[in-house]
Amino acid sequence: MDIKDLYIMELPHRIVLGRGVIDRIEEEVERLGFRRPVYIVGRYTARYSPGESVIVESSMKEHLDTIDLPDSDVIVGIGGGKNLDAAKYLSLKTGKPYILVPTLPSSDGIASPSISLYTEDGRLSLIHSPPILILIDFDVVARSPRDYILSGYGDVVSKYSSVYDWWLGHRRTGEYFGHLTSRLMVFAFNHVVKDRRRLLTPHGVHVLLESLILSGGGIGIQRSSRPASGSEHLISHAIDIIRIRNGERPGLHGLQVGVSTVFTAYLQRRRWGYVRRVLSEAGHPTTLEEIHVDPDLFADAVLLAPSLRNRYTILNEVELTRKKVLTILEEVEMV
Ligand SMILES: [Zn+2]
Repeated sequence: MDIKDLYIMELPHRIVLGRGVIDRIEEEVERLGFRRPVYIVGRYTARYSPGESVIVESSMKEHLDTIDLPDSDVIVGIGGGKNLDAAKYLSLKTGKPYILVPTLPSSDGIASPSISLYTEDGRLSLIHSPPILILIDFDVVARSPRDYILSGYGDVVSKYSSVYDWWLGHRRTGEYFGHLTSRLMVFAFNHVVKDRRRLLTPHGVHVLLESLILSGGGIGIQRSSRPASGSEHLISHAIDIIRIRNGERPGLHGLQVGVSTVFTAYLQRRRWGYVRRVLSEAGHPTTLEEIHVDPDLFADAVLLAPSLRNRYTILNEVELTRKKVLTILEEVEMV
């Protein structure tokens, strides 16, 4: 095991998860000593804001850079991934602390310090400090549409592939591999996978939230998205980039990384059939058709993915052609 000279781990200061707690936002903000919060919301989550709000239209960096924040001492993001990423980015830009109030369980971004933005010509991944507070109203999140719950599940299942890619990077390039964080990620995976048949029940959503909080916490401990994002995330990001270039909207992050994990587990020569089973037994898609991704688009994304980021993954070790990708898709029953 490598021992570094210096470890800096950052975790959220306070996590509040409970029923009806969304009505306690102001009280919680005040409890932490803030007096002038600004709420970053979307059109659908504006109703949860108890004070001065800014509505964000998208998580395009160019759009967020035009926002002029009112005088404030803390930034509170309320909503799904887009609003939370916007709040994190505005916090990073202004140096003000931030609070996350997720209303959907759609990815580990609800509890992580990583920021994922779109730009006019691609994507931008940034890392920030964790939020001061994460406040999750269980009643609000449990009402999420089915696909958003499945998306959060797919994001946790993707750790099966991302942790392996991290270990591979360590073996091949000597990059640091954190045993604590990798075990935390594996724990988060096992925690929700064990209850997969009950995922779409209140119990299942509760367990999912715990796994997402653990996974987001792991990113803070590592101060990098490395443990949580490997080849399966690169493929999903590439799908999004190609779609945006074609003027289309990106799909749900967790569904894309979940299904892509079947493919990357195959490349890793690991138990892709098991991944497929834990997805399907939870009600999560396992085919490209179910997530509205054309096989040709998927093949383009696989070929583009390794160039998106300087991050060693299984994609650096396999010689893939479009034809080979399409053959594998048939073999793993993704088409
Ligand atoms: Zn993710």
